[in-house]
Amino acid sequence: MKLLIVEDEIKTGEYLKQGLSEAGFIVDLSHNGLDGHHLAMTERYDLLILDVMLPGMDGWRILKSLRESNKEVPVLFLTARDSIDDRVKGLELGADDYLVKPFVFAELLARVRTLLRRSTSPAKELGLKVADLELDLARHRASRNGKRIHLTAKEFSLLELLVRRQGEVLPRSLIASQVWDMNFDSDTNVIDVAIRRLRGKIDDNFEIKLIQTVRGMGYMIDTPDS
Ligand code: CA
Repeated sequence: MKLLIVEDEIKTGEYLKQGLSEAGFIVDLSHNGLDGHHLAMTERYDLLILDVMLPGMDGWRILKSLRESNKEVPVLFLTARDSIDDRVKGLELGADDYLVKPFVFAELLARVRTLLRRSTSPAKELGLKVADLELDLARHRASRNGKRIHLTAKEFSLLELLVRRQGEVLPRSLIASQVWDMNFDSDTNVIDVAIRRLRGKIDDNFEIKLIQTVRGMGYMIDTPDS
């Protein structure tokens, strides 16, 4: 799951990014409204956390622009004061929830999880499957043939992306944009190394190999005969 935080208070932004990353999310952070708006319009996120008062373009305008472009991504607002006007305005513009500063991180995390659960369809929530490989999305667990496979948060995100788009060849650039944050240096071989590690856990001990390399194009997960 990939999130975008737009928050101009550097400390608050970094604190949120760190906490959400530790909770297993991939997090982009922007410190001003214009960059945040650009990212929200061009990248795919599962959830946005928007501060209201931002330099360049405020949170309201970002939300308005997204909804006018039919972007249905859930939005959680951070407001500096508990004003009914702010709350009504946010909900009218299509915000999904709001949180009044200062808040404790645990509350933010709970709101984020609730919004993500609400926006994920029931079919997706049950889990994903390729051959005998199963992903339990709620518990972040993977297994093959019923045997639990221990993955890091990053490995799980990578595997989830491949499985969600099984049968599709995913170029490295797409994998980078979905599984790594915006500071990722695409000149490195990080993705190949990550795939090799994932293969070691998912495929090495099994006769049927699921992760496939498509030379010159990227990676794909599929059952070999389909
Ligand atoms: Ca602010």
